[in-house]
Amino acid sequence: MNLEWSQEEKAFAEEIRAVLEQELTDDIREADRYATSVYPDHKASMAWQERLHRNGLAAPHWPIEHGGKDWTAAQHYIFACERARARAPSLSPMGIHMVAHVIAAFGTAEQQDFFLPRILSGDVFFCQGYSEPNAGSDLAALQMSAVPNGEDFLLSGSKIWTTHAQEANWIFCLVRTKNTGRRQEGITFILVPMDQDGVTVHPITMLSGETVQNQIFFADVRVSRNNVIGEVDAGWRVAKYLLEFERGGSAYSAGLKIRVSDIEEQASTIAKGEGKLIDDPIFAHKLARARIRVDILEVMELRLLSSAGKGESVGAMSSLMKIMGTELAQHLTELALEAAGPSGTVFQPHPTRPGAAIPDYTAPEDEYVSGATWQAVAPLQYLNERAGSIYAGSNEIQRNILAKHVLGL
Ligand SMILES: Cc1cc2nc3c(=O)[nH]c(=O)nc-3n(C[C@H](O)[C@H](O)[C@H](O)COP(=O)(O)OP(=O)(O)OC[C@H]3O[C@@H](n4cnc5c(N)ncnc54)[C@H](O)[C@@H]3O)c2cc1C
Repeated sequence: MNLEWSQEEKAFAEEIRAVLEQELTDDIREADRYATSVYPDHKASMAWQERLHRNGLAAPHWPIEHGGKDWTAAQHYIFACERARARAPSLSPMGIHMVAHVIAAFGTAEQQDFFLPRILSGDVFFCQGYSEPNAGSDLAALQMSAVPNGEDFLLSGSKIWTTHAQEANWIFCLVRTKNTGRRQEGITFILVPMDQDGVTVHPITMLSGETVQNQIFFADVRVSRNNVIGEVDAGWRVAKYLLEFERGGSAYSAGLKIRVSDIEEQASTIAKGEGKLIDDPIFAHKLARARIRVDILEVMELRLLSSAGKGESVGAMSSLMKIMGTELAQHLTELALEAAGPSGTVFQPHPTRPGAAIPDYTAPEDEYVSGATWQAVAPLQYLNERAGSIYAGSNEIQRNILAKHVLGL
């Protein structure tokens, strides 16, 4: 196994670094640095998508005929690492990283021609309608119905935990079109315009006070059959194909390294006894252990990359990476909170760049109630990061996958 980058790969990294350096404004970098959850505020994220799109880099993982790049797995990994190092924000994934792949693989030519360019330009912004109040880990239990009505379907029911539904103008939904046979056999994948009569979005206030997730109610919402992706009743296959992209992240370590460095820098500014927090042996020990865990994760990512480069299947190992990546991310927010000290206990959402709206809260004009920006943001990041082990397939479910496919239990 060779973990060194080749000369060509190093040159490729330089190229990407130059583009990022040129396109990333201070404003966009700051939005990423102080983002309270995985995604920064919507405007900054869309501004960044537009800049990437201008350089043909908004969706390098798409099929080439739809605007993707003919890159190796290593080049994709390098791109992800350079983005993290440059503090480029992540893009909202539901369109570009999820449903676009499904449309490219299962959609008709008309569906591809309409949606793919608009997803790239940001004119079409999707949210994901999979989970329901009684269907999460057990997704096949979903009940939202789609009843045929002439050339259309009438949709009724509810979706929950829908991220970015406030901003979205389209939602992709799994709906039940048949109630007989195996549960998986009566599910259809359909695209729904959010401005259709009968769609109501209710924000859910998260632990951090922000409203990024929502519950959506559908009351006899009329949707054309032309919006079905794949065949009616055969949406389960489409849904599972999409999950490969939702759960397929394998470049956690680059972003986590940045977080470790940030905490080190921050702890160097906080007084502790005669010196600074970073000199405290207990804190320094915790930080060193976290750094080692990130280094281990990086080596594992490179090993997987090396296997993928040889055409070997990554298989259930992506579950291991999801568990390690999200648990480490949670641990780092705990360390950041510890470093923030008393200022980290004050509820003070970001006055200029909230991750999302805070109901009934008026932010101070231009400064925090207490401490520096990172101290104000640390508790919100800590609270929001709890969700990392729940979404995209909970970590318990990932452990089940490992138990079955790796340990043979
Ligand atoms: C921040 C956030 C954003 C989200 N965004 C979206 C979105 O945009 N669109 C969308 O459709 N969904 C979204 N979700 C929903 C997410 O996919 C579900 O929360 C997740 O699938 C878990 O389902 P659940 O919440 O119903 O919990 P449940 O499935 O009820 O699970 C409850 C607990 O039981 C455990 N458990 C369940 N089954 C098993 C089992 N077989 N073995 C062991 N343990 C088990 C789970 O791990 C969990 O700890 C989001 C969730 C969060 C927290």
